[in-house]
Amino acid sequence: MTAANGIRLVLFGPPGAGKGTQAQLLRESLGIEHVSSGDLFRHHLSNGTELGELARGYMNRGELVPDEVTIGMVIDRISDIGDADGFMLDGFPRNTTQAEALEAALGERDQRLDRVVHIQVEDSELIRRLSNRYVCRACQRPFARDPETGVPPAKCVYCPDGGDIYQRDDDTEAAVANRLSIYHQETAPVLEFYRQRGLLADIPGERSIDAVHHSVLRILDTAGAGAVSKS
Ligand SMILES: [Zn+2]
Repeated sequence: MTAANGIRLVLFGPPGAGKGTQAQLLRESLGIEHVSSGDLFRHHLSNGTELGELARGYMNRGELVPDEVTIGMVIDRISDIGDADGFMLDGFPRNTTQAEALEAALGERDQRLDRVVHIQVEDSELIRRLSNRYVCRACQRPFARDPETGVPPAKCVYCPDGGDIYQRDDDTEAAVANRLSIYHQETAPVLEFYRQRGLLADIPGERSIDAVHHSVLRILDTAGAGAVSKS
């Protein structure tokens, strides 16, 4: 089977929106490469590449890794991906400088993004999802709040002495709300950048995993040149 040009897309979604699950499903459905900036960083750091060592220097000094380093890692990675293969960027671009660099790098190869997929979930729902995690202090098994009462179990049902159930600092409502606020501040300008270019597709994420996945596939089908249909 000869493929049309692979789809090139960027995936956005707040923490708790199921972005990782959707990325995995898209990789399987479309056969495109999943390029996660977090994975790239880990790869460069553990292999001690030039860019990895550069990044490590900033990190060791407690400084932010500059855009050039991140851009270098991502551009380097996607230039290895053939026209027919396509890719899905995850965790990049984080700001408009990175978005512009990506656009320029693709343009040099006569390529462009086909779509920017933004999985949208209300903050109140994300807070409900993310702050619903409790763990046993003794065995670390996870527990959720009772859906009826909204209260987590008082004691672990697995530990013989009934270990205390508590919520980690990162999972409290306040901590989750803070993470979401940082996410919105960071992504709003990038989403606007792509909205202006007519690339942004907002996908309602408060549905089943399958329903969200099929919405994304439908959107990509109408993305124009690069789209493939696998029914
Ligand atoms: Zn326990």
